[in-house]
Formats: sequence, structure tokens, C-alpha cells
Amino acid sequence: MAAYEFIDHRYDVVVVGAGGSGLRAALGCAQAGLKTACVTKVFPTRSHTVAAQGGISASLGNMGQDDWRWHMYDTVKGADWLGDQDAIEYLARNAPAAVYELEHWGVPFSRTEEGKIYQRAFGGMTRNFGEGPIQRTCAAADRTGHAILHTLYGQSVRHAVEFFTEYFALDLMMDEGVCRGVTAWKLDDGTLHRFSAQMVILATGGYGRVYFSCTSAHTCTGDGNAMVLRAGLPLQDMEFVQFHPTGIYGAGVLITEGVRGEGGYLTNSEGERFMERYAPSAKDLASRDVVSRSMTIEIREGRGVGPNKDHIYLHLDHLDPKIIHERLPGISESARIFAGVDVTKEPIPVLPTVHYNMGGIPTNYHGEVLTKVGGDPDSVIPGLMAVGEAACVSIHGANRLGSNSLTDLVVFGRAAGLRAAEVVKPGDKIPEAKPAWTERHLARFDRFRHANGGSPTAQLRLEMQKAMQEDAAVFRTGETLESGVRRIAEVHSKVRDIRVTDRGLIWNTDLMETLEFDNLVGQAAVTVTSALNRQESRGAHAREDFKDRDDVNWMKHTLAWFDDATGKVRLDDRPVHAYTLTNDIAYIPPKARVY
Ligand SMILES: Cc1cc2nc3c(=O)[nH]c(=O)nc-3n(C[C@H](O)[C@H](O)[C@H](O)COP(=O)(O)OP(=O)(O)OC[C@H]3O[C@@H](n4cnc5c(N)ncnc54)[C@H](O)[C@@H]3O)c2cc1C
Repeated sequence: MAAYEFIDHRYDVVVVGAGGSGLRAALGCAQAGLKTACVTKVFPTRSHTVAAQGGISASLGNMGQDDWRWHMYDTVKGADWLGDQDAIEYLARNAPAAVYELEHWGVPFSRTEEGKIYQRAFGGMTRNFGEGPIQRTCAAADRTGHAILHTLYGQSVRHAVEFFTEYFALDLMMDEGVCRGVTAWKLDDGTLHRFSAQMVILATGGYGRVYFSCTSAHTCTGDGNAMVLRAGLPLQDMEFVQFHPTGIYGAGVLITEGVRGEGGYLTNSEGERFMERYAPSAKDLASRDVVSRSMTIEIREGRGVGPNKDHIYLHLDHLDPKIIHERLPGISESARIFAGVDVTKEPIPVLPTVHYNMGGIPTNYHGEVLTKVGGDPDSVIPGLMAVGEAACVSIHGANRLGSNSLTDLVVFGRAAGLRAAEVVKPGDKIPEAKPAWTERHLARFDRFRHANGGSPTAQLRLEMQKAMQEDAAVFRTGETLESGVRRIAEVHSKVRDIRVTDRGLIWNTDLMETLEFDNLVGQAAVTVTSALNRQESRGAHAREDFKDRDDVNWMKHTLAWFDDATGKVRLDDRPVHAYTLTNDIAYIPPKARVY
């Protein structure tokens, strides 16, 4: 192995990731007087949060009466009763303050006539415990994530968060169950770095790129999740992958649910508004799992549109072009560029596309990472937190409601900052990093750098993405999932035979993509194995061989560990938190599914 030297850094807190969740957490830590670093593989404002279109949910009540309890109820129901209700209460209660905080920091929200923050309708968001749709999603036109990310970056710089941009985090430094920091590779000069810290906060986002067609950026490779697996810790509920109903056919680019919130609707080849049949009350604004399944059934039964009858139309050509121009300028542009469609005149061709990962690193509502040790399912890993899409806190349970993720980022990003301020003492002594903590990091890095096998990374990645797309899709069966487990195991076994051509350390995108692919393949294995194991249908996990939700046997979180040496996945479970934080709202018991 080549000799590698580390450049050392010491911080109270190191945040890995500069999306909405990482920036909000870093900002909170810096405000509390903690010396805070933020390590990110892309420039902060290029994080995937920038692409969020539709908005951020909070019961502000600007468009009619609203109540955080209604928001909580919708989130529990949307999660199909797999969400932790203490965390969901925390989210719904703290959402309005989090949105006002963003407003005061400078997010340019769209406005009502009276100058209040504009709110639009989104799927699954209802009035008075499910009575009818409500406008709860706060929007900055259809570029809400862009507005939030830029504002948070400005505030982080103002509060002296120190940024390490284009540093690729490799692995966690673990010392007998305690996290001591993280190692990283600086992409533009090839140096290696050791960040020692009292607390590491992972905010590395989702792993949508495990699929062939997804709405997420190429950078969404779940690197933090993979670091957790390599540290011998579990990921939770990885079988729950959200398909967004309206990705542009062929391109996968997202068309926000806000389009349907503004009055857009779906039709099949007969010109029928088929969602009226599947969800008579919520119609086109039923939750995403319901709409994606309905579209898939229409296509399967021969009522898809286009020459191959393999997609669906989304109409907004009946809306006032002025409204479209004001509230949906971004998607008009995307539809023109990626589908060649003028949305004021023609429908957009769309297809359910992988969009969000409900699963991730298990945490409590303070952001502290959990594992199951002995009889304790909520055992905290000292020195390690996770927030954002990388985390599974779990408020989205089996299915996330649209616009609840941006809320998740800022509410739990803030919570993590508050917790860090409690457990981290500014300037406290940090132990000297030991070579034993990083031996495996370097061995892995060096092995890939010099990998000289027969399978190029791009080829293995494509094999993995195809297997996931075909075998862990909107509908699943034992048979497809078994095939998925087999195919992913095959891909994983070929990692030993991978080929990297560039041996350099400076801007070596070949090596970086290989490290990312290796991160993805472990998550693919955990996802299909967890999905095969769960013998029920709940939220986004629709098993054709187990069509019903089974609360007696399956109202529990899946935990999955991955052994990279053997490719084996080990499973266990944790109870769902079936209790609330306070007595202001009682535990919401499971109900039958009526939409
Ligand atoms: C197209 C699209 C539209 C969406 N629209 C909405 C919406 O309207 N409303 C809503 O609520 N949700 C929406 N979502 C979901 C939501 O935007 C995401 O879940 C959320 O932005 C994720 O934020 P994050 O902070 O967890 O991570 P990200 O924003 O994905 O950021 C991840 C960060 O981690 C860093 N990172 C990753 N790996 C490494 C590594 N190895 N080393 C160093 N740094 C690393 C990256 O550089 C980046 O800064 C949308 C998602 C997509 C894809």
C-alpha cells in the first residue's frame, strides 16, 4: 500500500454535508459558540436541496384555519403508522417557528394579497383530521429549496461556520463504539485529512442513485449511510423508497406535486381523470404511494399514453397562464427542455420515478444516532448524530408526505444544534487520532485507487441500477425481490474485480465515482433484503403477495447491518414509538386506509 499522510484538524463539531439539514445544524452549533466545520463534496449551494420545488409544510394557517395537530395527524397517517409519534409531534409543533425563522433570515417566500407567506395544497395535507384538503405548504414559487439553501448558506458564513468545500468524506473514526471524527479526501489537491471532533453530524442526503431512474442529483449516493454500515452500525427501514408520481417520462426530472396543488390533474389514454376512481375524496392529491400505484395499474391495464402506452399525462393547460408564470415558472422551463412541451397548451408526459428514501440512519428526535444493543433498541452512539434525508428519525415512516422533508431538514437540523450545545463543551479536549482508527479507511481507499480488475465501475453501477429498477419497483413480490437479492449479491461480488483507470489523487472522478458506487451497492443489498423480509404492504412498500397492512406482526422498524466482506445482511427490528411527547394530542391509533 502507498504511504498516506493525514493533515489534522480539530473542531468541537464536524458536520458532513451542506444541504438544508447540514447547514441548519452547522448554523445552530456555531450560534451556540461551538467551533464548527462543514465538510462537503460539492459547493454548498449545489447540494440536492437546491432542486426542491414545491415547498415546506407548516401549519401557519395563512390560507384558512390550521392546527399543528392536524399536521401531525396527516403525517402519522401518511407514514402508514410506521412513523415515531414523539418525533412527528416535535416536527408538527416546531414547523411554524422554523418557517418564520427562515423568513426572518431572508427566504423570499411568495406572498398572499395581504403580504403573508403563500401556502399551496399538497398531497395528504388535510383540515380537521382528514376532512378535506388544506393549503399548508409554504412556497417560494417553485424554487423553494433554492431559496432556503442560499439563505442558510449566507447565514452560516455570517456565523463563522468553517467550510471545507470539495472534500470527500471517506469514513468515521470509531473508537470502541464512540465516534471521534471523520476522514476526508480533498478532491482538488489530493491530500487526505483527519477531522477530530467531539461530535460528527452526518447530513449526507439520500441514495436515490441506487436506481436507474430517479429525480435526485448524481451526488445522491448515500455516502453517510454507507459510512455507518462500515462502522458496524445498522440502517433503518431501507425497504421504503418513495416513487414520485410525476417524473418527466424518459428524463426522470421532477415536476412538483405543487402542479396538482395548483389544480393540475392526471389522465390516461381514454382521457379519463382516473384518480377519481382510486381516491374519490383526495383524487390527484392522494399521497404519493397511492398515486404512483394507481398510475402503474393504469399503464399495466393498457391505458397508458404515447406510442408504447407506457406513461401518463399531467395537465395544467386548463390553468390561467398568468398563474403558471407566477407560481410554476421552473417546471414550465423543465417541461420545455426535457419533454419539448409548452405547458400552457399540452400535457406533460410523466411516470412514477424514484424520489426519496424514507429509510436511513436511525436517530431519536434530538438527532442522536441509535443502535440496538442487548435489550435496548434506543442505545445512543456517543459522538454521532444524523439529520436530513440521511437520517430516519422517523417522521416519514413508510411514506413521506410531500413538503415534509424541507420541514424535517430545518426542524431536526435545529434540534441537532440544540442537543450538540448541551453535550459538547466548547474547546474541550479531543483525543489524539490513532492510526488504528483509520487503517481500514486507507486500505479501502488504496485498494480502489489501484484496482486493476476487469469490470469498469460504470458497468457495475448500471447492473445494480437496472436490478433495483426492475426488482424493487413500485410493486414488489417475493419472486422479484429474491431475484433482486441475487442480482445485487452478484454485483457486490464483482466489486473485487473492479477497474479504475486513473491512479492519480487530483480530481480523480473515476476513483470518486468508484467510492460512491461502493457506497451504493451496500445500500442496495440492505434495501432489497429488508424489502424481501417485510411480508406486508405498508406505505411505499407494496407487496402483491401480501396486499394488506399487518399491524399485528409488522408495525415495527427494520434494522439492517451489512458485512462488506461476505456481502451478508443481518436483520433485526425496533419498536415504533407509539407514544407522543406530550398529552396535547393522544397517540393516533392505526386506521383502515381510506383516501
Ligand atoms: C427534485 C427534488 C425536489 C424536491 N422537492 C421537495 C419539496 O418541494 N419539498 C420537500 O419537502 N422536499 C422535497 N424534496 C426532498 C428534499 O429536497 C430532500 O430530501 C432534501 O433536500 C435533502 O436534504 P439534505 O440536507 O438531507 O441533503 P442534500 O441536500 O442532498 O445534501 C447532501 C450534502 O451532503 C454532502 N455529501 C454527501 N456525501 C458526501 C461525502 N462523501 N463527503 C462530503 N460531503 C458529502 C453533499 O455535498 C451535500 O452538501 C425534493 C427532492 C428532489 C430530489
